[in-house]
Amino acid sequence: MRPSILNPLFADITVLTGVGPKIAALISRAAGPLVVDLVLTAPAGLVDRSFRPTIAEAPPGRILTLSVTVDRHDPPPKGRRLPYKVICSDETGYITLVYFHARADYLKTLLPEGQTRLISGKVEEFNGARQMPHPDYVADPDKPSDMPTFEPIYPLTAGLTAGVMRKAVTQAMMRVPALSEWQDDSWLKARNWPSWKNSIEAMHAPESQAGLSAMAPTRQRLAYDELLANQLALLLIRKARIKSRGRSITGHGRLLAKAKKALPFSLTNAQELALDDIYSDMRAPDRMVRLLQGDVGSGKTIVAFFAMLTAIESGGQSALMAPTEILARQHLESLEPLALAAGIKLGILTGRDKGTARRETLRQLANGDIDILLGTHALFQDDVAFHDLALVVIDEQHRFGVRQRVALTQKGPKPDLLVMTATPIPRTLSLTAYGDMDHSRITEKPPGRKPVDTRTISMSRIDEIVNGLKRATTNGEQAYWVCPLVEESEFLDLTAAEERFETLKTALGDGVGLVHGKMSGPEKDAIMERFYNGEIQVLIATTVIEVGVNAPNATIMIIEHAERFGLAQLHQLRGRVGRGEKKSSCILLYKAPLGETAKARLNVLRDTEDGFLIAEEDLRLRGAGDVLGAAQSGFPRFRLADIAVHGELLAAARDDAELIMRRDADLKSARGEALRTLLYLFSRDDAVKLLSAG
Ligand code: ADP
Ligand code: MG
Repeated sequence: MRPSILNPLFADITVLTGVGPKIAALISRAAGPLVVDLVLTAPAGLVDRSFRPTIAEAPPGRILTLSVTVDRHDPPPKGRRLPYKVICSDETGYITLVYFHARADYLKTLLPEGQTRLISGKVEEFNGARQMPHPDYVADPDKPSDMPTFEPIYPLTAGLTAGVMRKAVTQAMMRVPALSEWQDDSWLKARNWPSWKNSIEAMHAPESQAGLSAMAPTRQRLAYDELLANQLALLLIRKARIKSRGRSITGHGRLLAKAKKALPFSLTNAQELALDDIYSDMRAPDRMVRLLQGDVGSGKTIVAFFAMLTAIESGGQSALMAPTEILARQHLESLEPLALAAGIKLGILTGRDKGTARRETLRQLANGDIDILLGTHALFQDDVAFHDLALVVIDEQHRFGVRQRVALTQKGPKPDLLVMTATPIPRTLSLTAYGDMDHSRITEKPPGRKPVDTRTISMSRIDEIVNGLKRATTNGEQAYWVCPLVEESEFLDLTAAEERFETLKTALGDGVGLVHGKMSGPEKDAIMERFYNGEIQVLIATTVIEVGVNAPNATIMIIEHAERFGLAQLHQLRGRVGRGEKKSSCILLYKAPLGETAKARLNVLRDTEDGFLIAEEDLRLRGAGDVLGAAQSGFPRFRLADIAVHGELLAAARDDAELIMRRDADLKSARGEALRTLLYLFSRDDAVKLLSAG
């Protein structure tokens, strides 16, 4: 149960005065539906009224505060739609306050003639005279608190004004309780960080641009709190999962030996290291939950196959789930010879398999004849039952949701789980997203890979590119041509894939195909197959080809509007070529002019083929939000922490969380109690629930 001290924060925003249903809807959109959402929303900017020049010195266009004497009111003549003016002065000159649609009696009390007033707003020059239309504030100098010197500006949404939002936040902040300290004492002292309450108050009361910075000490403390909540929650989830005991899997090595003999190459060092991690996990009685990261082409499949063989050696079965039909069939094709050598039986199950064939596969699966079942989402349909599922491997894991992962692992008695991804993720990001898993990385490619010649070229030279393409295809080469969107969007001036398809067909003839995300699965598969068979030389595609399919004869990758893609995505696309014997090239077509950051990003790609390096650079250049992009799901969105700048804090939070788990995994100590509050504060109720259940 959430501690009652947090109740004022977990109330609906409509409890705040002045927040009715209409405004609540707007604030919900900008920040969230609860008081705590407002409390945890950092200001995006700041209005600074501390500049106090004389009238003569006051520069136009900048927010400032003047101390003036009210000389006289100059109301418009009756019946004329002219503004109401109030003439004011100081010892250096005059200024006119201008009000449209003003109520005279209101202005008379606000600005009594002969009195001194503080006025704040922007000065304008008009016909050589100074004026201030509608001052933001008019205050009695004896009551300066009527005019805030600094005002935070919050992220808004259409229809929501800065003032309404600010008032709501101010009220929300009045509900913030003092909370017991959850941070380690000495760490807090070493960092010289104030309490959580003082820090959150400071965040909402910035007094300079520096105060808004994510590197301000109070902001660092808040970011650390959020990261600690994230890491602690992940470790609690991990512990709960491991506690649900798996089985100890030890192979006798005979199947492995046969398969190795049939392998036309030896494993790279990096592959061996990853396998060491995996074998030792499988041997342990706890469940394996491991993420295997490795660039496109780094050879993850064979690593997975060896793990699966080990599971079979101990008497169990394995499943390998791929995100697409094509990929599943490619796995079947590439693993078949090795399976034959080892003397084990592969099966496949996809959406395409129906009727008697499907029934027969299911029968062989249930009685244990099939040792490894390959397939797609179809693997976790209800009637798919294994004899004894010991290991589940999930390929291109970012394509699957957590629920699908869980569904498949429920098909066996706590099977071990190995998930694989070719999306290079910076270390920091992978800690936040996959912090509940153990990690292995394949950091080296098989020997003999030729580098892909990568160039950045302006779209204005597209005719040259098309001519080059014509020559290459005449020589029997194959190419991918990637376009960012399927249909012309009214907002983005993107070259649509369909249009490109037409122009290239005109230029190159019939050997041009088009595949895009709006096609049905079988439609896509049919086109892709024609590409592998060589019936199509140039495949125009939206990013559907991103997933790890293999067409070794393709040597050219052209990416249109490369500047609009994430670097990780570009890198993965490039990984589609350079797989065979021939020399390959990648052309990044960009729309000129390119901004500095965009140029730097494309250059990173041109200069290296190391996916992890590319991911780190992308994070540095663009920040976390952009790196993840809309395509990547499953990444936590932080409100106060910014992984691009708080990487060091994340590493510290990870260490801290690990220490907490070693000392007080049930969060029973005084600090543990406070940490529970922290988890609730960041809505990690899911993790705390595992505690009380355990
Ligand atoms: P990915 O990590 O992208 O899934 P794959 O497992 O598909 O990569 O491997 C890419 C290609 O590299 C395959 O053709 C595979 O047979 C080959 N390969 C894998 N490991 C090695 C190795 N150690 N030496 C040579 N070739 C290898
Ligand atoms: Mg793969």
